[in-house]
Order: sequence, then C-alpha cells, then structure tokens
Amino acid sequence: EKFKSGLAKSRNTFTDGLNDLVARYRKVDEDFFEELEEVLIMADVGVNTVMELIDELKFEVKRKNIQDPKQVQEVISEKLVEIYKGATDKEESLELNLNPNGLTIILFVGVNGVGKTTSIGKIAHMLKQEGKSVLLAAGDTFRAGAIEQLEVWGERVGVDVIKQGAGSDPAAVMYDAVQAAKARKVDVLLCDTAGRLQNKVNLMKELEKVRNVIAREVPDAPHEVLLVIDATTGQNGLSQAKTFSEATSVSGIVLTKLDGTAKGGIVLAIRNELKVPVKFVGLGEKMDDLQPFQPEQFVYGLFG
Ligand code: GDP
Repeated sequence: EKFKSGLAKSRNTFTDGLNDLVARYRKVDEDFFEELEEVLIMADVGVNTVMELIDELKFEVKRKNIQDPKQVQEVISEKLVEIYKGATDKEESLELNLNPNGLTIILFVGVNGVGKTTSIGKIAHMLKQEGKSVLLAAGDTFRAGAIEQLEVWGERVGVDVIKQGAGSDPAAVMYDAVQAAKARKVDVLLCDTAGRLQNKVNLMKELEKVRNVIAREVPDAPHEVLLVIDATTGQNGLSQAKTFSEATSVSGIVLTKLDGTAKGGIVLAIRNELKVPVKFVGLGEKMDDLQPFQPEQFVYGLFG
C-alpha cells in the first residue's frame, strides 16, 4: 500500500497516458506504437529501454495476432518485468549482502543532495528493526554540515556516529570507524562518503583510498557499495550516476524521492544503463519511507 501511494505520481503518468491511448485507438498499428513510445519516454523509461520494449511488443503482437490495444496494455507490464530482469545474465540478490561471519561494511556513494544521508538513516533504522547493531561513519568531511546532519539521523535512529572534524581525511575517519565497529562487535557499519563531483580522477582516488583502508581491516569489505540516485533528476541523475559507477564499482542502487516524481520509469533506464540492481527505493522523508525494491511489485504498481 505504501509502495502504491508513493508511486502515485508515476502511476498517473503511466496509466493516464496508456488509458488515453487505448481509448483513442481501435486497432494496434504503427501510429499506436509511435504514441506509446512517447508516453514511455515522457515517463523517463529511457530511449534504449523504450526501443527494446517496442520491438518486443511488436514481435508479441504479431505472434499472438493481437488487434485490440487493450491486450497490448496487458503485455507491457509482463515485458517490462522481463526486460528489467534480463538486463544482466547473472542471478542477482535484491537483498543486502550481509557478512555471515561478522562485521558488514556498506559504503554509500552519490552526489550531494540526492538523499544519501537520509538513506543511511533509513537503512540504519531498518537494520536496527531487524535486531542488528549499527554504527555510522561520517566520511563526508568536505561538505559543510554533512557530519552534523548524519549525527541528527544517528540520534533519531539511536545509533552512534564515528566522526572527526570537518576537513579531516576521510580515510582516517574510516579507519577509526572500522576499529570502533570491531571493538564494539557491531553487526553493520554504514559509511557516508564525499558527494562532490568536480573531478572524476579525484573522486576515484578518494573512494579508492577509503576502500583500501576498509579492505585492509576487514577481508571482503566493503560488502556493498550503494549508489544513491535522486529519481526526480531523471536522465541527468543517470549521467551523474554513470560517472560514479565508473569511479568505483557499485553493487546496488538506492533510488530516492520516487514519491516526488511522475517519471518512475527511470528505474528501468537505470537498470538498463548501469546494469546494477536497484535494491531500495525512497518514498518520502521519514525514517520508514524506504522499501526494498521488487521488479514485479514496482511494474504492477505503476499500472495497477
Ligand atoms: P545528501 O546531500 O545526499 O546527504 O541528501 P540528504 O539526505 O540531505 O537529502 C536531501 C533532501 O532530500 C532532504 O530534504 C531529504 O529530506 C530529502 N529526501 C531524501 N530522500 C527522500 C525521499 O525518498 N523522498 C523525499 N520526498 N525526499 C527525500
């Protein structure tokens, strides 16, 4: 239910657009597909994904000899789920990869303002509710207010934050945080990182340094690198996300602010362009406005 109401804006774009189309067309022809293409592009599904979907639909329409636009509507959801799942050939877990043998370390990367701090707070809350102990690391030492903001979330959720002063070396903060997490026998350490994107080489170096410190202290860490993307920034956000995923290897996406956009199709574009699974979606500003992502639930939520 929460998922559905969070997707209300996107659902309107998709369902209204499609219903209107289906009401105006009596049979499925080239014009119908052209208009359908427009509806999907407006919803930010992304050109490549739209092309792929249209091709699949045309094939299916021919194969099943579909004449009625209503029947195409039914096939769309099915095909979208298929495209989503088929974007990579390997089986992927949508769950967090938690270390069964002790400390799990999760890095959060992404541009300032996308909702990185908020997502760390929400995931800390979720993990605590699952009975896990959590610690936060204030690794964004550059942006003014980033440390304080993480502390506000720490207090709200009831978890400690390991920090140093503004301007300190992020790798030193991470070292401290890992030591603290080990000493306290914490289950999960959630690490904030810098979100400035002025220079890819610098970003790459900083993230690599942070990763090296972590990997030295805990074998196989980080266990997840979650890239946070703001759904309301559409194709722009997607190109920033590409820069990040080129700077460091990313294991999952947290897509924030889906409640604030009518263009939820961006999930499909992200999937197809970045080849990384969306693991969580943000559907509001509050602590429990975060949901694990399920492709079927999402696609059927858009059309239901
Ligand atoms: P950061 O700079 O990446 O750490 O971004 P913040 O966590 O400070 O978030 C920026 C703004 O986006 C804040 O006002 C948050 O409340 C808001 N925000 C974060 N996630 C969501 C979401 O899923 N939905 C909505 N509506 N707002 C969000």
